[in-house]
Amino acid sequence: MFQLDKLLRDNIRQLVPYSSARDEFKGEAQVFLDANENSLGSPLTRWYNRYPDPLQWKLKEALSKVKGVEPKHIFLGNGSDECIDVLYRAFCVPGKDNIIINPPTYGMYEVSAHINDIEVRRATLLDDFQLDLVHLENLVDENTKIIWICSPNNPTANSMDRQDVETVLNNFPGLVVVDEAYINFSRHRSFIQELADYPNLVVLQTMSKAWGLAGLRLGMAFASEAIIDVYNKVKPPYNINQATQELALKALEETGQVNDMIRALVSMREQMHNQLAELPVVRKIYPSDANFLLVKVVDARAVYQYLLDQGIVVRDRSKVALCEGCLRITVGTESENRKLLEALSQYQIT
Ligand SMILES: *Cc1c(COP(=O)(O)O)cnc(C)c1O
Repeated sequence: MFQLDKLLRDNIRQLVPYSSARDEFKGEAQVFLDANENSLGSPLTRWYNRYPDPLQWKLKEALSKVKGVEPKHIFLGNGSDECIDVLYRAFCVPGKDNIIINPPTYGMYEVSAHINDIEVRRATLLDDFQLDLVHLENLVDENTKIIWICSPNNPTANSMDRQDVETVLNNFPGLVVVDEAYINFSRHRSFIQELADYPNLVVLQTMSKAWGLAGLRLGMAFASEAIIDVYNKVKPPYNINQATQELALKALEETGQVNDMIRALVSMREQMHNQLAELPVVRKIYPSDANFLLVKVVDARAVYQYLLDQGIVVRDRSKVALCEGCLRITVGTESENRKLLEALSQYQIT
């Protein structure tokens, strides 16, 4: 079944990773002359003249308590984007290997694959936005390295059926990545506690959505120790900067505030759903487990432009297969949501 070593690219299996000054010396010292930093300091008040911890142990300890996952099962990336890209570089041979996505879904799996010259295969979701397991199975061959499952999915907003995800995990001998960027807004259980059962599972989460820290760029991958070791071998040595490590650590003390925001956003999402449903311009609103709504409107392109003319920007997903005629609308503040509803209620259907 799953053999990590066989899945790896040859060059990565044989790779001697970069050893930084911070890797080589661990312990107490008073004089640091090992990393060619500026010993005089920096124009900033903090100790930003020093290189950050390459493996971010303090931050992982704190994260471990919040997530209930040991630090050795955590990789931190410069956004989820890096968590995605490193997997391609470690496991997929350019021009030979392939991966499978389940569109409509998050665009970065495909873009990052193309950047790495990895073939992208598509098992389009069923009409109810669930996984097409038969199609998925048919696409798999001996060069298929990764299956990407986004749950809750962007842009369709639904969670994937848990049994379907388990079926993929149990039967696919490559990596199964479950992207849970929106998990905090969902009623469904995360896969983060199932790492012991599935050696091929990678769970992605992010500080960009529920934590409100898109600007910091901090993505998380949770996986077996063996997979995390691969991540650490391939990543750039100092991929998470000192400021991000400090600020994320501070944010992790504020779980109460974050939970309040999640509750507020979910409640506004439901309220917005009900209010949108009353409007003539709205054809259909899909159920959402995320902090956005996928909304089918009478004339998506025209409605998009109409909103834009009033300074309200939403995402036009109307050209995306299965999302024909749809806009993706993020839940905003009370006043932003009110402005959106006000504008849509005045839209003249021609
Ligand atoms: C927003 C989003 C992310 C987050 O990406 P970051 O690089 O961590 O900001 C990841 N996956 C999905 C599906 C998203 O919608």
